[in-house]
This record gives sequence, structure tokens and C-alpha cells, in this order.
Amino acid sequence: MSYDPLRASHPGTGLDYMPSYWTATAGVRPTDDGPLTGTTDVDVAIIGGGYTGLSCAYHLARHYGIRATVLEANRPGWGCSGRNGGFARAAIGRHSFGKMIERWGRQTARRVFGQALSAVDNVRSMIGEGGIGCDALEAGHLKIAHRPSRAAALAREAELLQREFEYPAEFLTGAKLRSEHIGGSQSHGALRFPDALAVHPLKLALGVLNMARAAGAKVHSASPVLSWRKNGHAHVLITPSATVRARTVVLATNGYTPEHLHDCIRATTLPMLSHIIVTRAMTAEEKVTTGFRTEHVLTDTRNLLYYWRRLPDDRILFGGRGQITESAAGQVAHRDFLLAELKAKLPALGAIRVDYDWWGWVCLTADFMPHVYHAADDTSTHYALGYQGSGVSYSLFAGKVLAARIANDASPDPIPATTTPLPRFPFAALRRVGQRAAYQWYRYSDNRG
Ligand SMILES: Cc1cc2nc3c(=O)[nH]c(=O)nc-3n(C[C@H](O)[C@H](O)[C@H](O)COP(=O)(O)OP(=O)(O)OC[C@H]3O[C@@H](n4cnc5c(N)ncnc54)[C@H](O)[C@@H]3O)c2cc1C
Repeated sequence: MSYDPLRASHPGTGLDYMPSYWTATAGVRPTDDGPLTGTTDVDVAIIGGGYTGLSCAYHLARHYGIRATVLEANRPGWGCSGRNGGFARAAIGRHSFGKMIERWGRQTARRVFGQALSAVDNVRSMIGEGGIGCDALEAGHLKIAHRPSRAAALAREAELLQREFEYPAEFLTGAKLRSEHIGGSQSHGALRFPDALAVHPLKLALGVLNMARAAGAKVHSASPVLSWRKNGHAHVLITPSATVRARTVVLATNGYTPEHLHDCIRATTLPMLSHIIVTRAMTAEEKVTTGFRTEHVLTDTRNLLYYWRRLPDDRILFGGRGQITESAAGQVAHRDFLLAELKAKLPALGAIRVDYDWWGWVCLTADFMPHVYHAADDTSTHYALGYQGSGVSYSLFAGKVLAARIANDASPDPIPATTTPLPRFPFAALRRVGQRAAYQWYRYSDNRG
């Protein structure tokens, strides 16, 4: 089914997971609490059962004894959380750390960077606490110069990270990158971040589901919130088979947020499709000729960046921007396009084929930052969204921040993402037009200089 969050009222009811490499390898699916029925009063209702919603439910129950009710339209982890590349990186929003210093000053930028690292640590702790078997690997992250001219900026960024944040980032020359990590025609140097995990994203989501339920939360699948109103101090949420009255509501729907569900998110999100292909396993010869020996998760220096990694079974996962809206013809074209771009990076893969491809909605905001905040006129309506396509670690962390806030506990260091509301897009009706224009411009600028 195709879904457009800017137009549709909800993403479906009880839909199965999208076929993908992850669904094919996730193993036995744990149970959830099924569709909610009847009329229920709850303290906290959470809309959306991905990393944000499940993590919030887990932390509320585990640390504060608050047993939240999660309402998920389809299945836990059905959205981005079960479909992503599995790169748990130190990332908050889309700005470079240099830009953050320019924008907020050194002290704030240091706090943002510290929180990005804490978010990766939180992934490690949650995996440990829940004994989650999600094939987690301390992989590290390489940001690769896709053109020779982009290497100098990476060297400067490494120096900035060392100087301003005392972080052991490292610049790798093209020669070192090719001899130790990956060859090909677009490996001209890299910035190395030691902190990044590679995970099986759906196993991770299902692991957090188990943790939330074991701690006492209820997680209802096939329970899309169709409408939401306020009756005095109570929120009233309507699903196809239930009415939920809640004192507090958390919106944890990220790129799948239906535009018209609540006024606090109207005109604040730009959902964008990200598309992934997974190839057949590389042959022994291809492993040598590509020089693809690294286990690091990889991104490049494009604005419309590509992200890729070698999977434990020697397949390659390669992702990039998808269509503007979902269509069957566009899906085939994007799959073929991504394969051509992978082969452009690694020409030795001339004969490789695609075994899986899928896509999902990521969430951009007008200031390219996530926001973990509340409605301007109602502090019982919380949200955490806008991860800009890099939310594996920060969405799990945002769920924890929200739980602390709802329980009136001390939050971690305040940063702009946790202290400011979602800004509205100017000329919101033209978001898609702007997106098309931006894609054209980025494509042009990514291929020059
Ligand atoms: C193809 C792809 C690759 C990505 N790769 C990476 C990566 O490698 N690293 C990284 O850091 N990030 C990556 N991301 C982004 C990352 O996956 C997300 O930032 C993160 O999963 C967001 O989690 P979430 O819980 O906020 O949202 P989601 O996991 O998207 O969950 C939102 C849920 O809300 C539900 N929902 C929506 N409306 C309603 C309603 N009305 N009622 C009830 N439920 C509703 C949806 O069904 C959905 O399950 C990728 C995303 C995609 C699509």
C-alpha cells in the first residue's frame, strides 16, 4: 500500500512488515498486546510503536513505574525502526559540528556533541539491559570523500572534532582508506568516528518491544489513532476498535506522522523516502577486487548522501534518497538507480544483482534538527521527531528523555533539540515543490567540485 503522510489520515491498520532483508532474517517475531478494544483510561498514551515510542514506554515503566499504552497502527517496528540501515551513529540533525559551533557557540555545540555520544552509549546499554540479540557490532563510521576535492574539508572536520570536543576522530588519506577499508573509484579519504554500532534494526526494535512489555507497558498493534481531541483535561484518542482517554499523550510517529493528526505538528514535517537495496553476497573474487574489507558503516560527502555497509553474510546494503511519493514504477527505477550508483563506486561489482529492496519515510524539519518537546499551549502533549534520516541512536535516546520529562525527573543536559518547539515550514503547501528543486540542485552540486 502506498502512504503519503502529508495527505492520508493514518498509515494503515495491522499491515504486515514490508518485505526486506531484515524481515527475512529477523527470526521468530515476539507477540504484542494485539488491537486495543473498548474504552480505556490510561495515564500515558504513546502514538507510534517504533524506537521512540517503545523506548519511551520502556523507560517510563522501568524507571518510574508508569505503565504507558503504545498505540501502533500496524506492528511494532513497522515504520523506519524496522527498515533502516542499522547505523547507530553519533548524529543529531543534519548540521556539521562546525556549523553547530557557528550557530550556537562552543558550549552548546559541545553539549550537543556530548548528547550524540550519550545516545550511542544508550543504544549499547539498552542492548545490554535487554540482552537484545541484534547482531550488534562496534563498527565505527567512515564518512568518505566521494570526490578528491572533498577530502580537505574532512581533514578540517577531524581537526575540529579533536580540538573542540577532544574527540578521537581521525582523518584517513585516500591511500590509507583504500588499503585498509575500501577501494573503488570514489574513495578519496575519510573522516573516522570510532563510535558507531552496526545492528540488525528490526531485531533491535523487537528487542525493545520485549523490554517495554516485560517492564509493564502495553503495546497494541493494529491500533491506528484516527482522531484526537481534548475533553477538559483528558485527551480522547479514537482507534478503529477503541476509545482511549489519556492524561498525557506522546506523539512518536516521525516520518509517518499524519499531517492532520494534531495542530502542534501541522506544517512542521517534510517526510522523505529513503530507499535501500541489498545485493547477493560478494564472491571471494569480488571481495578482493573491490577491496571492501571494512566493517565500518559508511556514508559519503554528498548532500544527497549514500550510506552502505557490508553485512555479516557479505552482502552489501546500499541506500540513498528515494522517490518523492510512493509508486510501483518509481520503486523499480530507484532500485536500478541505486544499483548503478553502487557500481559507480565499486566498478568491480559489474555482475552483482539485487536480492532485496525496500524504502521508508524519514522526517525532515524546517531547521534540520529533531525536536523533543511539547505543544505550545499544552504540556500534556509531547512529541519527539525529525531525526533527518539518522535516528537509530537519537530516537531511542529521545524516548528516554521524554520518559524523564513526563515523570518530572531531571532531563539530560538541555540542548536546542530538547528545549525548542518544532518550527513550521514557511510556505508549507509548497514543501514538495521545494523538495524537488532541492534534489535537482543537490544532484548538480554533488557531482561537481
Ligand atoms: C530506508 C531507511 C534507512 C535508514 N537508515 C538509518 C540508519 O542507518 N541510521 C540511522 O540513524 N537512521 C536511519 N534511518 C532513520 C531511522 O530509522 C529513524 O530515524 C528511526 O527509526 C525513527 O524511529 P521512530 O520510532 O521515531 O519512527 P518509526 O520507526 O518510523 O515509527 C513510527 C510509527 O508510527 C506509526 N504511526 C504513524 N501514525 C500513526 C497513527 N495515527 N496511529 C498509530 N500509529 C501511527 C507508524 O505505523 C510507525 O510504525 C533510516 C530510515 C529509513 C526509512
